[in-house]
Amino acid sequence: MRSVTILGATGSVGTSTLDLVEREPTRFRVEALTAHSDVDGLAAAAKRTRAAVAVIGDATRLGALKAALAGSGVEAAAGPEAIVDAARRGADWTMAAIVGLAGLEPVMAALSCGKAVALANKESLVSAGAIMIRAAEDAGARLLPVDSEHNAVFQCYEPAPGRVSRIILTASGGPFRTWTHDQMRGVTPAQAVKHPNWSMGAKISVDSATMMNKGLELIEAHHLFPVGADKLEVLVHPQSVVHSMVEYVDGSVLAQLGDADMRIPIAHALAWPDRMTTPCARLDLARIGQLDFEAPDEMRFPALALARAALAAGGARPAVLNAANETAVAAFLAGQIGFLDIAATVEEVLAQYEPDAPLTLAEVVAIDAEARHKAVSVMRRIAA
Ligand code: NDP
Ligand code: MG
Repeated sequence: MRSVTILGATGSVGTSTLDLVEREPTRFRVEALTAHSDVDGLAAAAKRTRAAVAVIGDATRLGALKAALAGSGVEAAAGPEAIVDAARRGADWTMAAIVGLAGLEPVMAALSCGKAVALANKESLVSAGAIMIRAAEDAGARLLPVDSEHNAVFQCYEPAPGRVSRIILTASGGPFRTWTHDQMRGVTPAQAVKHPNWSMGAKISVDSATMMNKGLELIEAHHLFPVGADKLEVLVHPQSVVHSMVEYVDGSVLAQLGDADMRIPIAHALAWPDRMTTPCARLDLARIGQLDFEAPDEMRFPALALARAALAAGGARPAVLNAANETAVAAFLAGQIGFLDIAATVEEVLAQYEPDAPLTLAEVVAIDAEARHKAVSVMRRIAA
């Protein structure tokens, strides 16, 4: 039996992971489940799976969690430190599916146990990539990519030096792929979170709409598949059938295809190095008929260019980019800034703040905090 911990169990990736885990009760046993504020969702999942412990990040909700778990035998805990403790319990397999840099300390704690860590939480890798990869190597932990593109590359990738000539990340282009810059000015949060192909949490849906998501994914790919930033490309593919491709020096291109259902890459990571059955729809290419591809437009989607520049510059740039983006996306979702202000805010924070490359986790956290602070002042000026 493989013990499983899910960090961010109540989210989109978390519930998809639970769905797979619960289908095979003789294969998987749940150690810990965590959430931020969704007591009901967390308690229901913990009771169903007979988890050893359930942790709610918002410490004011401990009483509610205890009440919801009364008599179930599931231990209750609360607060950010308790989430880190849950990650450190050393399950055989941990899903890192907290959204944003809030997931960084838990994922580092999970890596320190030297087991398998399935990574959905791309923001942590973007901001603390080198530190995280080193920590995984030092502990002998196995990072399994869950992001659909990176999972696709992982399935097609031969890590021997000198073999890979290009990694091509596909992008749906999001809901505004064909919109003009002017049309995008008036985009509302409700329009931005409505992704044409994937059902996801609000933050990543907005990132897909600005294409910052693909920018973050370029940086994520750079850490997971160190072939050199100049060999990473983005290709818009509106149907989201080809999830990414690896080109080899001989001209062969390997791709992974499948229905746009996150349970497919999650199942790959959950069963790895084996495979498991899923209830996901089978790909019907005859019905789909046609697959389209086009170059990304970095003029209409400047977030992609900002992320590419941050990747090329390295150092603290990706951490600043991520922090400014998280802050701006939250403000957009709260109705405080416009859609186009997201990339404008990130660009301005990057222009204002150029700290040295972080060498420790504490330095990443400090750079992140300062970049958020600067993003708030930039947005205040934009909104005025
Ligand atoms: P959701 O917003 O749906 O879920 C986020 C999860 O994290 C919830 O369980 C939430 O708890 C928890 N959480 C939120 N804030 C905190 C916090 N401060 N401390 C602790 N826990 C917190 O996000 P998604 O599932 O969509 O995405 C999760 C991660 O996976 C992101 O990094 C995203 O980029 C990545 N990803 C997602 C994909 C998708 O299809 N959704 C695809 C590829 C990558 P609560 O419910 O209580 O708020
Ligand atoms: Mg992705």
